Amino acid sequence: MLPLIGMNIQPISPADYRTIVFFTGAGMSAESGVPTYRGRGGIWAKYNWEEVACEEAFRRNPEKVLEFHALRRQQLADCRPHRGHAVIASLEERHAHVAVVTQNIDGLHQLAGSRRVIELHGSLWRLRCSREGTIYHLSPREKSPVRCQCGAWLRPDIIWFGDCLDPEVVQRATEIIGGCDLLIAVGTSAVVWPAAGFPQLARDQGAHCIKINPEATEMSSLYHVSHQGPAGEVLPALFPAATTA
Ligand SMILES: [Zn+2]
Repeated sequence: MLPLIGMNIQPISPADYRTIVFFTGAGMSAESGVPTYRGRGGIWAKYNWEEVACEEAFRRNPEKVLEFHALRRQQLADCRPHRGHAVIASLEERHAHVAVVTQNIDGLHQLAGSRRVIELHGSLWRLRCSREGTIYHLSPREKSPVRCQCGAWLRPDIIWFGDCLDPEVVQRATEIIGGCDLLIAVGTSAVVWPAAGFPQLARDQGAHCIKINPEATEMSSLYHVSHQGPAGEVLPALFPAATTA
């Protein structure tokens, strides 16, 4: 347990900012029990991504790839958003100028009630026709189809290894981050481009930049303030007004 989280956190008044962007990564979801992909004990320590998470694998063995992703969804069915997700959703409801840019594909922000969510890496809750791109929305505990009405295989609408990010999604993220005056990065190591450039972009445009990370990370000069602690504790402390009903 981390000691005294929240004791020296200066609360933020959302009304002081024009646009607030939460930029979230794996650490945000891990607090909800979502298995992480990278790192020790992560999914990529157990599975070979070359067999389950790239276009080539899908072409070679679509059933195996789909099964892997169905299992990911099954694991998510038991995960609930935590207090940090709830604070972000509540802020959006009270102040229209709040958005989320996330590297996560689990849909937990939406489950918490967030509406303005830009998913850089797509969503496990969508399938896309591998032939003509039709999108299918999935819901938990519902058996997902494997083929499109046109007969082609449906692939998860996520970014696999070797896939390019959707330029339109990157554009939307870049615009909103470049235009925000408060950026709060949560649980993201942001080492992968273009996400790695987002904090710098916000900073260059004059935004106040805050970092929340459950684990101690290298001090980064990009951020004006860094909080080490779980997002489920730090976010309610930062925005106490957003935690009241
Ligand atoms: Zn189709």
